[in-house]
Amino acid sequence: MDDCIFCKIAAGKVPCNKVYEDKYTIAFLDINPAAKGHTLVIPKEHYETMTDIAPAVMQSLSLSLQKVAKKVHDGLLADGYNVYINNKPAAGQVVMHAHFHIVPRKHDDGIRIQWPQKRYGPGEMEDIKSKVSGAVTGNDRG
Ligand code: AMP
Ligand code: ZN
Repeated sequence: MDDCIFCKIAAGKVPCNKVYEDKYTIAFLDINPAAKGHTLVIPKEHYETMTDIAPAVMQSLSLSLQKVAKKVHDGLLADGYNVYINNKPAAGQVVMHAHFHIVPRKHDDGIRIQWPQKRYGPGEMEDIKSKVSGAVTGNDRG
């Protein structure tokens, strides 16, 4: 992907503040952090969303994510951390190369990750449950 900024970072063509790298993964500081130490964990290969990622890459990436989350948390003496991913523009994805955000947290740091809570109508949960559980994923990629 010639025009993908994260592919360029993974290939070393664009600089980043790298905190971790292995065969499938690279992790670096977000340039516009929600908190200092906000880190992005990405597959080196280009996949648009989490469900596009090849299963073997996803397995490795998950372990790297866990490792990097611990490094961010422990290295910065954080009180906690959030891990999240935006998939597709409707969910807020801006860079179309799948990436996990790790945001180190402190007590009372003023960051709010929240949404207005909704309510299900009568029978609606069962309907939603069967749509989700019955969705055909075809293979492991979903
Ligand atoms: P998202 O909305 O999930 O696509 O988030 C994209 C994230 O990538 C944002 O938090 C940006 O600050 C971050 N970002 C974009 N370009 C770079 C870059 N060159 N180096 C580090 N972080 C970046
Ligand atoms: Zn890419």
